[in-house]
Amino acid sequence: MQAFISAQGLVKHYGNTLALDNVSFEVYQNEILGFIGPDGAGKSTLFEILTTLLIPDAGEASINGMDIHKDYGKIRASIGFMPGKFSLYQDLTVQENLSFFANIFGSSIEENYHLIKGIYELLKPFANRKAGALSGGMKQKLALCCALIHKPLALFLDEPTTGVDAVSRTEFWDNLMQIRDSGIPIVVSTPYMDEATRCDRVAMIHNGRIMKLDTPDNIIKGYDGKLLSITCKDRQKPKALLQNEAAITSLYSFGDALHISLNNTDASTLKLISSKLEQGMDSPYQIKEVFPIFEDCFLQLMGQMKK
Ligand code: ADP
Repeated sequence: MQAFISAQGLVKHYGNTLALDNVSFEVYQNEILGFIGPDGAGKSTLFEILTTLLIPDAGEASINGMDIHKDYGKIRASIGFMPGKFSLYQDLTVQENLSFFANIFGSSIEENYHLIKGIYELLKPFANRKAGALSGGMKQKLALCCALIHKPLALFLDEPTTGVDAVSRTEFWDNLMQIRDSGIPIVVSTPYMDEATRCDRVAMIHNGRIMKLDTPDNIIKGYDGKLLSITCKDRQKPKALLQNEAAITSLYSFGDALHISLNNTDASTLKLISSKLEQGMDSPYQIKEVFPIFEDCFLQLMGQMKK
């Protein structure tokens, strides 16, 4: 299958900072590719290169065969981009923003209304409200409508739901699924693990490098080691007791539990952990083996990177 979006060996420096370090990936039609990584990982730089706002120091990228260097005009006219910062006209109303974006792309709201209908219905009661006076979730829905109104070939969304409430985030992602199913591939970054698991494939990015790129299921299946969960009143206590154990690769708070990732679970290791806890814990606790979820995989990878 031919990739719709392709990036090969992208490199970008800002002075001495290496923001992107040989980044390569492909995105296929009918696919949502998510980027997840901490602040400063290089996500925005990547989006700016793919949307031709920034020129890489090295590497190639193309969208539907259009090259980011040679065909930047064509790319700009045919993609939709939601940058990380809200970039619509705050003093224009919802309706005026939409008309403006439709007009500059030589389109009209009527022509592509079917694409935004689901989202726009939620915005309709606020059609005459200035964009600057909308709630965070409504602003993001409007920005998505504006990015879609010219029927883009592909959508690029840089942290589109950061700071948005949980219900609005779910609605927003339901919309993304529909857009993907209509044949528009989506590249999206997110700081939220639940959103990462809704992507068809996820790229974990850190220090400008893609550390892992796979389906969320495969990332979970590829979890390296075993995971124990300890619930107790004071999570700092087992953390202090166990943090220097050689078999423990990472140890982190997880909801109201402490998760312990082990690189070996032979009987002697488990016995050692049990006896340390039995001797050191001064209040009741529970320990059990649990299956990792996506967040465990992400935290394990980040832990490995820091070492
Ligand atoms: P993310 O979007 O994942 O937070 P960015 O792409 O914004 O990451 O940043 C990647 C790295 O490049 C960071 O170390 C950041 O400080 C640096 N950086 C980003 N933009 C600039 C800039 N305009 N000038 C200097 N450094 C920058």
